Amino acid sequence: MAEDKKHDKQVPNNVIQLGPTKCTAEGCSKKPAKASFCDEHFEWFKAGLITKEGMKAADFEKKHYHFMRAKKAA
Ligand SMILES: [Zn+2]
Repeated sequence: MAEDKKHDKQVPNNVIQLGPTKCTAEGCSKKPAKASFCDEHFEWFKAGLITKEGMKAADFEKKHYHFMRAKKAA
């Protein structure tokens, strides 16, 4: 039913209160430091490599390549 879905979205952000015990990024088990990501993956998130759900961006390969290059240059 469409109404059920609508109701789900209105649930307060209880999820956050549970507190993630590990980084949101796929396959990462480090402790989260910022916004549910570990330091490294928070950088990835900021750079647009991964979404806030920890999923890789559509053009992850390309972004990651440039990200690593930029990091090396720094
Ligand atoms: Zn991580």
